[in-house]
Amino acid sequence: MTDWNYLIYEKPHADIARIWLNRPDARNAQDTRLLYELNEAFDVAIADSEVKVIILAAKGPHFSAGHDLTESPDAALDTHRNYKAVGSWLSSTDSSGVETHYEREKEIYEHFCLRWRDLSKPTIASVHGKSIAGGLMLIWPMDFIIASEDATFQDNTAYMGIPGIEYFAHAWELGIRKAKEFLLCGEPITAAEAMQAGMLNRVVPREQLEQATLDFAQSIANKPALALKLGKAAINATYAAQGFDNVQQAAFNAHHLAHAHYRLSQDGSFLDKQFLERFSKKSS
Ligand code: ZN
Repeated sequence: MTDWNYLIYEKPHADIARIWLNRPDARNAQDTRLLYELNEAFDVAIADSEVKVIILAAKGPHFSAGHDLTESPDAALDTHRNYKAVGSWLSSTDSSGVETHYEREKEIYEHFCLRWRDLSKPTIASVHGKSIAGGLMLIWPMDFIIASEDATFQDNTAYMGIPGIEYFAHAWELGIRKAKEFLLCGEPITAAEAMQAGMLNRVVPREQLEQATLDFAQSIANKPALALKLGKAAINATYAAQGFDNVQQAAFNAHHLAHAHYRLSQDGSFLDKQFLERFSKKSS
């Protein structure tokens, strides 16, 4: 299936696939459909035996504003149910509690991120502008991150009363000390800071981002596919050795404890709406 609403799929060279997030008017905010489309596009690139490296880039002024908070919960669940699951948590229930919500996030956030992280071909995120919260969940699972100098990165979920995005790789991406600052202060960091923390592979001027990413991709694509696949898998085994899955499960459940707390204590919202309203009044 390639009739995607929110993506452009192309091959700038025979051995390189490039997927563009193409929802610029919404700053590439991710609704449920966009995430399923992206998952399909990765599958197309993996199935193409010519392709050795996959680039994920974005059209418009920003890489991604995060999850699309304007998507109605009903529409999100309908879309979720209409696609084939990649994990084992696709909801078949109509729970009015938090079960369905938990299952949906388990599938389209956690399972997608882990699946994309472990794709059998090297992946490169080519990033400019802002990447906020869910935006990080498209970048961090990639094997390499090349950013332009204007790029900034932020997990602002603390402002919503939530202890971090659903893919909890903060400490792996930034180191423990910087990860705590990133998570609990909730402020953006620059490309230079992210580079210093070890989150990025290259920082380049904005006008050079596309070519620098292609050059980097080509330097990988010149190698035999088997070495790329096995080398990537060997390094990714480090996540398991370091206990990534335990951290991920604890953080994911904490994330949903917070969602459930606001669902019960407020008006059915999954976020701390009262704080957000007070905060936006104060800062306006
Ligand atoms: Zn969530």
